[in-house]
Amino acid sequence: DLGARIPAREAGELGEVARAFNQMAEALARAEQQRRQMLADIAHELRTPLGILQGQLEALLDGVLPLVPEQIVQVHDEVRHLARLVEDLRLLALAEAGQLRLERRPVDLRSLIEEAADRIALQAAEKGIRLEVHLPEGLPPAWGDPGRLRQVLMNLLTNALRYTPAGGRITIEAQPLGDQVQVSVRDTGVGIAPEDLPYVFDRFYRAEKSRARADGGSGLGLAIARHLIEAHGGRIGVESQPGQGSHFFFTLPIVSRP
Ligand code: ADP
Repeated sequence: DLGARIPAREAGELGEVARAFNQMAEALARAEQQRRQMLADIAHELRTPLGILQGQLEALLDGVLPLVPEQIVQVHDEVRHLARLVEDLRLLALAEAGQLRLERRPVDLRSLIEEAADRIALQAAEKGIRLEVHLPEGLPPAWGDPGRLRQVLMNLLTNALRYTPAGGRITIEAQPLGDQVQVSVRDTGVGIAPEDLPYVFDRFYRAEKSRARADGGSGLGLAIARHLIEAHGGRIGVESQPGQGSHFFFTLPIVSRP
């Protein structure tokens, strides 16, 4: 029974033990409450794409929609969205359980960043968004897991693309900062309201404006990014002006040179 508490009127050692027990019981109850909330969130998030899929398939079966390749492509897109959501959930669950294994080594941030920029270059061009990369010479190598860091960068960049209208600009920068290196992704997009700002790294959180968007992501990208960066011993943050744009940044430890 997670509601059990010991009356801790006693002074001295016995009272200490009772209070320690009560604190543990409360921590357990909180963890249990969080676990229930997460399950409810997951069920809620899976329901929407499943409902869309079911509707599409029923319309195809009933002949309301023609059984042509274009329709199948739509169903396939929805299945892919669902698969990505499940994969993101798996990663987040691992991270929250502290079971994410990092394979760390010296990482050349220049090539990591340039590679990530290349991967969104076409989409940016198609959307009429200018993409700029500013990196200083002699950027020290970071100490990290290149695959995970690529994932963080791609999350920030696809968000910047998603929330920046045509004619905007995305800028990626990096600079040494003491024994860390800071990476910045700036956009000139819709920005984030001050009341949403503290929550954008929470799982499933979406600012009001983006919640209804059809092309929205899972609402997990930034939560995963935060876990990954903190697992590296870095910090992640954001500054934003609604209507002006957003600035996401993270720090990483650099490889200490003797
Ligand atoms: P999503 O999959 O919805 O993008 P994220 O965890 O990546 O989920 O982001 C959470 C929310 O933070 C988004 O729904 C959006 O409201 C806001 N957000 C993230 N990046 C940006 C950005 N570059 N500009 C404006 N809003 C952003």
